[in-house]
Amino acid sequence: MWSTAREIAAGDTVIIWLTRELVQPLVVTPGKDFNSKFGNYRHSDFVGMPYGSKVGSRTGKGFIHVLRPTPELWTLALPHRTQILYIADISLIISYLDIRRGSRVIEAGTGSGSFSHSVARSIGSSGHLWSYEFHEARAKKAKEEFAQHGMSDIVTLTHQNVCKDGFNLTDTVDSVFLDLPAPWDAVEHAKQALRKDRTTRICCFSPCMEQVLRTVSALNDAGFSDITMYETLVRPQDVSPIPVLQSINDVADKLKKAEGIREIKRLRQIAAGQRHNSNNNNDPHGEKRKRTSSDGEQEVPLVADGEDSGNGKRLKTDDEDMMDDVLEDSAAPAATPAKISLSKTIPEVRGHTSYLTFATLLPSMPIPPAAPTAAQGASPS
Ligand code: SAM
Repeated sequence: MWSTAREIAAGDTVIIWLTRELVQPLVVTPGKDFNSKFGNYRHSDFVGMPYGSKVGSRTGKGFIHVLRPTPELWTLALPHRTQILYIADISLIISYLDIRRGSRVIEAGTGSGSFSHSVARSIGSSGHLWSYEFHEARAKKAKEEFAQHGMSDIVTLTHQNVCKDGFNLTDTVDSVFLDLPAPWDAVEHAKQALRKDRTTRICCFSPCMEQVLRTVSALNDAGFSDITMYETLVRPQDVSPIPVLQSINDVADKLKKAEGIREIKRLRQIAAGQRHNSNNNNDPHGEKRKRTSSDGEQEVPLVADGEDSGNGKRLKTDDEDMMDDVLEDSAAPAATPAKISLSKTIPEVRGHTSYLTFATLLPSMPIPPAAPTAAQGASPS
């Protein structure tokens, strides 16, 4: 599949990566230009460049990346002729159907060939994919693409209505994937095409629940078991590094101190209020007095060291001294800076495509008779 050479050659299919949302395939054809809002490029300039190169525009504005195709990139870039399968579903189907090197697989319909490319890579040249498409123009175009991408030996594409005519294979296969409007009509044909000497699997891809229910009934009637439906939903995680200027312990200490400061401020306000009252009352004795705070929580002394020192300056209370210490500490440089990653799940669940109904077909080999027990007259050894 595709070129494995390090450098791009004339005639290669490459993937032009413009932005995350703008990815497109290109057959490198010297003599042609590639124009986009990210500038102008000559195809001939790509020839000889290593795959993955970042190429600057000839007009000096913008750049593109020229990538080697993979099934994942092809799925992002391919020309749509139908709705297609995306990688989240493709990967689940391939793994659940146990598609691997050497597997023999049926797919219907071919559509735009998105699923076909991933299957072809998974099964390699020792496996085979039989792909069916009843829309003639789509079948022809997909056949051309498979040939262009070096997949002709791995994929056999047949223009056929599988619901009506089945798969007509002399070989049997390990798994079947149906992406059709009426998969239930092809279930019996699929059963016939699956090998009977080992456990095999089928998957049907349908966008609505009514179709799923009809498919489940057809699978039950045909003798499939372990019928399970999945829906693949994409939940992006947003992970971003955030700098932490101090350790958790430092932060905890500071919070404790801040709490202390708040308490001290509260006490100071109470003390100030008391002083004000005592001045107004013109207390002749200058005694230490006690006062209950407005919320009734605590009694605090009206301390003499908070009163005038005699030189016009008020002496600091013990509490105020303590608060100064705390404030000084808080202004000290932070502990060794660290970095942590913060991950949040983006709640929006986007992209329901279809429901995936999987089922298993158990081998229909004759079960060997159980060995007779001693009670049934087996001769003792
Ligand atoms: N899985 C494909 C992909 O990833 O690109 C997309 C398949 S597309 C949604 C469904 C295709 O099935 C269409 O191209 C349609 O023409 C084809 N189709 C529908 N009924 C069919 C039938 N009875 N036999 C063969 N092909 C059929």
